[in-house]
Amino acid sequence: MINIENIVRPNILELQPYSSARDEFTGKEGIFLDANENPFGEFNRYPDPYQKELKQKLAELKDINTNNIFIGNGSDEVIDLAFRIFCSPGFDKAITFSPTYGMYDVSATINNVELLKLPLNQDFQIDIEKLESYFNDSSIKLMFICSPNNPTGNLINKKDIEFILNNFKGIVIIDEAYIDFAEADSLISLINQYNNLIVSQTFSKAWGLAAARVGTAYANEKIIKLYNKVKPPYNVSKLNQQAAINALDNKNTYKDNLNLILSEKKRLKSKLQQISLVKKIYPSDANFLLLEVTDANQLYTQLVNQQIITRNRNTQVANCIRITVGTQKENDELLNALKTLS
Ligand SMILES: *Cc1c(COP(=O)(O)O)cnc(C)c1O
Repeated sequence: MINIENIVRPNILELQPYSSARDEFTGKEGIFLDANENPFGEFNRYPDPYQKELKQKLAELKDINTNNIFIGNGSDEVIDLAFRIFCSPGFDKAITFSPTYGMYDVSATINNVELLKLPLNQDFQIDIEKLESYFNDSSIKLMFICSPNNPTGNLINKKDIEFILNNFKGIVIIDEAYIDFAEADSLISLINQYNNLIVSQTFSKAWGLAAARVGTAYANEKIIKLYNKVKPPYNVSKLNQQAAINALDNKNTYKDNLNLILSEKKRLKSKLQQISLVKKIYPSDANFLLLEVTDANQLYTQLVNQQIITRNRNTQVANCIRITVGTQKENDELLNALKTLS
């Protein structure tokens, strides 16, 4: 166990958070003349600042307490708030493992925090021996581990993550944006054991709600309280909360689509293996495949010319493109295009 107060920015520890009208009166019934809202209209009232209905449904789904849940405006807000809570700009640092999701770097730069990037090894796993020397640097407040990792698609070894949780004295954020597609359990079950662990998930991928911007963080209550203190009061709109609630009320749609994506992924992978310009397909626990091809820059442009848009990841992993699993029809069009280009 680490002492969370010791790694929080001093000004955030001292912060008196904004107290909204809905903080000061939490009842549902009454004549509301307290928030300068317009009395007319459908979306005239401020949304629930703590998203209680959504959290109640998530708590049941994840089998945890609502006090262990934070909802953000996408997981991008979960990332940004972590910098703002824990890292003093221009002084503290964060650490991650490359290649990985680009937002950690962008968010670090916006917050004027240096992000150290240790290369993953050949299997895209963390090099624990190299990492150990950083454990003594008390200015490193945050560590981002993306698992399954974007763009490589693999899970990070659980025993390595547990070693880190036991030895790193800062906050560890496990970004599980793709965990629904993985053949492994979420690490949410570890939040009661490690008080420096934040697990972030999202409604943007398996739940099909990228447009709605709803991200989640699971952590011990102290960390969740800090998030609530720093977040903008009404950070998740009522429309967005409702979209997530509706998705949770339609779990069959979620499951059916998830199964479709997983079976398409399997089919796409086996067909891609027969195409000569595909040199290698990396193992994936996500809803995308990372392919090594003969010339990624060239192939990317050729596909764009046929109105098939993939992600060129050549600068991150040489000659690799990342392909999201689409519908059967979309995947067939991709396969046909690749066959004619081979
Ligand atoms: C897509 C993705 C997210 C999702 O971000 P949102 O802001 O919730 O849409 C988070 N992390 C990773 C690694 C991703 O690839």
